[in-house]
Amino acid sequence: RAKEQGRNNYQFYTTDMNALTQQRLSLENDLRQAVERSELEMYYQPKVSLKDGRIVGAEALIRWKHPERGFVPPGDFIPLSEENGLILPIGEWLLRDICQQIRHWHDEGLHPPCIAINISGRQFQRQNLPDLVAQIMADSNIQPDDIELELTEGTIMSNAETNIEMLVMLKRMGLSLAIDDFGTGYSSLSYLKRFPIDVLKVDYSFVRDITTDNNSAELVRGVIGMAHGLKLEVVAEGVETAAQLELLRQYGCDVIQGFLFSKPLPAGEFAALVKADRRLG
Ligand code: C2E
Ligand code: MG
Ligand code: MG
Ligand code: MG
Repeated sequence: RAKEQGRNNYQFYTTDMNALTQQRLSLENDLRQAVERSELEMYYQPKVSLKDGRIVGAEALIRWKHPERGFVPPGDFIPLSEENGLILPIGEWLLRDICQQIRHWHDEGLHPPCIAINISGRQFQRQNLPDLVAQIMADSNIQPDDIELELTEGTIMSNAETNIEMLVMLKRMGLSLAIDDFGTGYSSLSYLKRFPIDVLKVDYSFVRDITTDNNSAELVRGVIGMAHGLKLEVVAEGVETAAQLELLRQYGCDVIQGFLFSKPLPAGEFAALVKADRRLG
């Protein structure tokens, strides 16, 4: 009897696994075609200066509108695309799409603020990243100060020694560089000092708790102080409440990004927001 049950469990388990594998495979197949079918779209989330409350930049965030599944969050397909390598064509597509969008905004007379682009670990490991970025900037006729590259702390700190060379190359091209999700990986402070980084983005998980947890608050205050000591600009991500904003202001944070000011917006809505913001000033 026990044996029988065990077998049933086993069968149940394999069916379950098959369903999961099946689901994953079909998502993977769909993702392969997503670029050609124009199902991917870049959204833009404003970054606001705490000095004057103006929009000083934006982060480009990818969105996938699947014909049957609806909206698939990047957290569900970016890690998958990192594993199967699809991040390389997708990453190239989005670099091009963003740079062409920036070109389009310039042509329209809207001088867009600096747009931050997320670069995945796998893209960063490719030696041709600087060439690819240079080629795409040239094709779209945009300047290095039009864009900023975001690399997660995890990406930068794995193989830190060899990564320094890549960062130096990108920096020499005139690009601004940001460490993303700071606080979630392991940073060696000595590397932080040597990396040619301009911006440090404090991870959402710390920002979320600053008004309720004293340890998070002290960590964020400490990180801001340290970053300023290293002459880095500090961006707090995931700012949702006025109370969080107030604390960040007290701690001397430079820039905020989060639902409190705006969620990520389609390009047209983002441009309208930038225009309105400039009319005010
Ligand atoms: P990330 O780079 O840290 O992006 C910030 C995430 O926080 C975004 O999630 C954004 O929508 C979300 N966010 C912004 N403000 C708030 C807020 O006030 N509250 C909360 N709860 N969340 C907020 P999203 O767009 O779902 O992206 C998740 C992650 O997926 C990104 O984290 C990034 O690692 C990756 N990702 C997104 N777009 C791209 C892309 O174009 N390329 C690459 N390589 N990765 C991307
Ligand atoms: Mg980011
Ligand atoms: Mg981030
Ligand atoms: Mg984050």
